[in-house]
Amino acid sequence: MKIQLLPSTFDAHGQATLEQRLTCFLIDDCVAIDAGSIAIALTPEQQNSVRDIIVTHPHMDHIASLPIFIDDLYPTLKQPMRIHATREVIGLLERDVFNWNVYPRFSDLKNDYGPVMEYVPIPDSGEFSVAHLRVKAVAVNHIVPTVGLLVTDGKSCVAFSSDTAETDAFWEVLNKTKHLDALFIEASFPDEMSKLAEVSRHLTPSSLGKELKKLSHNGMDILAVHLKPTHRESIIKQLKELNIPNLSVMSPGKIYYW
Ligand SMILES: [Zn+2]
Ligand SMILES: [Zn+2]
Repeated sequence: MKIQLLPSTFDAHGQATLEQRLTCFLIDDCVAIDAGSIAIALTPEQQNSVRDIIVTHPHMDHIASLPIFIDDLYPTLKQPMRIHATREVIGLLERDVFNWNVYPRFSDLKNDYGPVMEYVPIPDSGEFSVAHLRVKAVAVNHIVPTVGLLVTDGKSCVAFSSDTAETDAFWEVLNKTKHLDALFIEASFPDEMSKLAEVSRHLTPSSLGKELKKLSHNGMDILAVHLKPTHRESIIKQLKELNIPNLSVMSPGKIYYW
């Protein structure tokens, strides 16, 4: 499985910067998880191959350039952009984003080939297929309805926490999985901002450490993501102090394989 965390900003030479401001993971060049930087950082080939986007929750850093991406591709889409999300999240996207005020309601619009955007509700079981992948969505503990994801291509299996504070159901599902190759877990705020992390339902390095104790898998790669750019250095320092084997910070733009 090929996985990339798309960059959200670039330096003067066009190189991806290390700070992550937006969230969008790309799997095997065809399925996106969240869409923060989707209109900013895809190659032209990837723009042609991505037709499925799983939206974990409607916060701006996860959907910022989704409307622009569909707008860019509007005349050329020969099949609709499929947005996979829970019914609650679809309702929020329709009410608050694709509402004719913030942006057009693309789900009502067609180009010369047919509809340009289609919602695919995640079933109540949480289990669904996207392209060549099987996915299980599990509700996590964030300030809006949000799902974490377990994704497999039949050979490799990876998990995305999305944005969450302390949670249990997600870890229980992961613990039932035979083999896990990688976990992408959020680490938004440094320990000294634990109050803000608590009210906004995010993790700090020390609460991340506690969460990982609920996980029975050993040896998988653990990649911290969603570090607030202003506090990146102190979060990294505190993550190192946890001394957790295989824990690293994911680099935007880098291509990873499992
Ligand atoms: Zn969020
Ligand atoms: Zn976020």
